[in-house]
Amino acid sequence: MLPALDDHNRAFWTAGADGQLRVPFCTRCGVWVVPLAAECPDCDGVLESRAVCGRGTVFTYTVNHQPFNPAVPVPYVIAIVELEEQTDLRIASNIVDCEPDSVRIGLLVEVRFERQEVGDESVYMPVFAPRVD
Ligand SMILES: [Zn+2]
Repeated sequence: MLPALDDHNRAFWTAGADGQLRVPFCTRCGVWVVPLAAECPDCDGVLESRAVCGRGTVFTYTVNHQPFNPAVPVPYVIAIVELEEQTDLRIASNIVDCEPDSVRIGLLVEVRFERQEVGDESVYMPVFAPRVD
């Protein structure tokens, strides 16, 4: 499932070109905002795209055994990853580079990017892999 890029989500989906995960940040409230939005839901302030460290933990997950998409081999892990920067800063993603059975709530993970083409733009899907350090 690939996103249609617009001015509000482009930074998020393309920042992986630089190896960075970028998330909208409200400078007025001092909070990170997901899902991707044009304005801060609390103060309607303009959001700026800022890099996060890319590390987090598995908040919850499910192992999918249903082949919805022939291009994606099963089983694979769909997870909500909570980023280190803020306790409610969670993004839906996949856990890669490990056995699906080894994924646990609280698993320490870090971001990777999977490049895909959308029209004539490259999208860098953030996925997460177990942290090795
Ligand atoms: Zn705000």
